[in-house]
Amino acid sequence: MPFCPKCGYEYREEISECFDCGSELVASLPEQRLPNSDWVMLKRFRGTVFAEMACDVLRQHGIPTLAQNHFLTSAIGSTGTGFPGQEVIVYVREEDYPEALELIAGMTGDHT
Ligand SMILES: [Zn+2]
Repeated sequence: MPFCPKCGYEYREEISECFDCGSELVASLPEQRLPNSDWVMLKRFRGTVFAEMACDVLRQHGIPTLAQNHFLTSAIGSTGTGFPGQEVIVYVREEDYPEALELIAGMTGDHT
């Protein structure tokens, strides 16, 4: 099943683009990759919009990201419409973590 690397939504086989953010869908689920690699949690976001903005910023700086939301399993087969206030967790590779944190801090104005 293809899924969106940004939103974490899963789609039917014939779908190639995320309805929600327009990202190209990829073939495997992020949680299948997480245990075998050094991905670390960067930040929890309230709402898919902020998570997607963060992923966009990070990717512009060449940092690969994974986003996973708490509604992943219940979102299977849905059109990928995010819930307001939905929590999304963004992951980055451990080596990218310090730079990613800085970029996110600059984006949200959160320097604490
Ligand atoms: Zn998406």
